[in-house]
Amino acid sequence: MLTGIRLVSEAAELAARRHLGQQRKGRGDEPYINHLAEVANLLSSATNGEDAELVAAGWLHDTLEDTETAFDELSLRFGPRVAGLVEECTDDMKLSKRERRQKQIEDAPAKSPGAKLIKTADKISNVRARIFPSPTREQREELADYVAWAAKVVASCRGVSAALDSLFDEAVANAQSVL
Ligand code: ZN
Repeated sequence: MLTGIRLVSEAAELAARRHLGQQRKGRGDEPYINHLAEVANLLSSATNGEDAELVAAGWLHDTLEDTETAFDELSLRFGPRVAGLVEECTDDMKLSKRERRQKQIEDAPAKSPGAKLIKTADKISNVRARIFPSPTREQREELADYVAWAAKVVASCRGVSAALDSLFDEAVANAQSVL
């Protein structure tokens, strides 16, 4: 089984290939991989580089939801913990967006500490990307809606990393300054 830098770099490469051509929502029309790099780096920094499996799961956290990737493939290549973390952060795409959002709020308290960190890092990245310097009314509404929901999910993920908790609060404060 891969470990350390080998594990993280294999995860980054697979994520880059699987999300090829996808764009993230929000500012600057960034490629999707920028979101994954940001989440992985937030996780690496929050754990002082001491949890390679968590960082690998950060790179891979949207593969089951948004790409043709199977749980068994992740488990075989990256091990059961990485695959389990990604699965914990995967929405049931058979549900509507509204139902998925509600389920994230309800399920967050029971998530593992690692999944709580990934969810918080994900929300930090997504709030940041939705902050436009001079937002249109639509962008402002989208940001307000996203922040209100993300704060409810993150409320149940707090207490694992003070650094990530405060980066989320900072992102929300920045969002509020343009709302
Ligand atoms: Zn994500």
